[in-house]
Amino acid sequence: MPPLVEPAAELTVDEVRRYSRHLIIPDVGMAGQKRLKNAKVLCVGAGGLGSPALLYLAAAGVGTLGVIDFDVVDESNLQRQVIHGQSDVGRPKAESAAASVREINPLIDVVVHNEVLSTENVMDIFAQYDLIVDGTDNFATRYMVNDAAVLLGKPYVWGSIYRFDGQASVFWAEHGPCYRCLYPEPPPPGMVPSCAEGGVLGVLCASIGSIQVNEAIKLLTGIGEPLVGRLMIYDALEMTYRSVKVRKDPECVLCGKNPTVTELLEDYEAFCGAVSEEAQEAASGSTITATELKSWQDQGENIYVIDVREPNEYEIVSIPGAVLIPKGEFLNGSALERLPQDKKIVLHCKSGVRSAECLAIVKNAGFSDAVHVGGGVLSWIKTVDPSLPAY
Ligand SMILES: [Zn+2]
Repeated sequence: MPPLVEPAAELTVDEVRRYSRHLIIPDVGMAGQKRLKNAKVLCVGAGGLGSPALLYLAAAGVGTLGVIDFDVVDESNLQRQVIHGQSDVGRPKAESAAASVREINPLIDVVVHNEVLSTENVMDIFAQYDLIVDGTDNFATRYMVNDAAVLLGKPYVWGSIYRFDGQASVFWAEHGPCYRCLYPEPPPPGMVPSCAEGGVLGVLCASIGSIQVNEAIKLLTGIGEPLVGRLMIYDALEMTYRSVKVRKDPECVLCGKNPTVTELLEDYEAFCGAVSEEAQEAASGSTITATELKSWQDQGENIYVIDVREPNEYEIVSIPGAVLIPKGEFLNGSALERLPQDKKIVLHCKSGVRSAECLAIVKNAGFSDAVHVGGGVLSWIKTVDPSLPAY
C-alpha cells in the first residue's frame, strides 16, 4: 500500500540524533522518518488505548499529534491510562496527555481538542489529519468515527479491549472493509458490557494500543502488510494472537455499491440505543433516585432491594441491605422464584442500564409496582455516601 504522507524536506541534527534507531532500520530510514515528521495523526480518546498510543506516536516522531478528549482524569483511570499521573487527577485528559507528550518529545506539535467529539465537529477535526487512531470505548462514538472516516476517505486504526481480550484492525474503505462491513449493526443495548461495567486488565491497553501504533507507522510510511481486511484477535490469558479475514461487504450501507448512509447520522446515541425500548418503557414512571431509596430505607418502608450486578462488583462496593441477584438470573428466569410477593421490589446496578433491563422482566412477571434506581450505585455514592469508592 502506498505511504499515506509525503516526506518532510529534511530532518534537523536534533531529529537525526533522536530518531537514530529508526534511521538505521533499512525499511524506515531517512525517507520513513521524514514521512513520520510530516504526518498528522489524531488520537480519539486519551484513555486506555489512547494513553499508550499517544506515548509511542510521540516518541516515534509523528510531527503533528492531535488528541481529543472531553473527560477529566479520575483516580480509577490510573490503573491503565499511563499517560496520566497522580497529580493529573481532576485535570482535563487532553491537557494532561499533551503535557506528557511534550515531555517525551518536544520536537513535535501537539494539538489539544478539549471537547466532545460530536456530529457537529467530527468532520472538521478529522479533515485536519492524515490518519485517525480510534481509542473510544463506546459504540455510538465508534460508529460515528467510522462513518466520518469513510465519508472523508481516511483510514483509521481501530482497537477494542475488554477484560483479557483485545481486537484491532485498520478500516480503510478505499482499500478494504469498514467497521460497518464487520459489524453492520450495534449490539443490542445491555448485551455488551463496557470496561466500566466489566473491567479491563490494565496492561491489555498497552498490548492493543501498541498494535495500533505499529499499524499507524506502517500506514504512514508505507511499509509492511497493514491490518486492512484483517481482524486481529488477542487473548491475554491463552497468550494467542490470531487474525481473521474481514471482507468488504458489497451491500454495506456506508461503503458498499449502493450506499444508503451518505452523510453522518443525526444521533449516534439513538442508533446504538443506550437502553432497550422495553427497558425504557419499564423504567418510565418507575425510576427512583438514590436519595429516595435512602429515605425509604430510613423510614422502614416495606421494600426488597436487589443488586443485579456481578458478585465481584458487589464485593467492591454495595448499597447496605441490598441482596445480590445477578442480571443473568433474571434473564434465565431463576431469579423470579426468589422474589418476595409481599414487598416492593427495588432493583439497582452500577449505572441504571442493567437494572432497567431487569425491571422490564420483573414487571412482565407481574411485579407491577417494582422500581429501579436511576444512576445505580454510582448515584448512591455521589448523593448518599461519598465515602464509598466509585469503581
Ligand atoms: Zn463498509
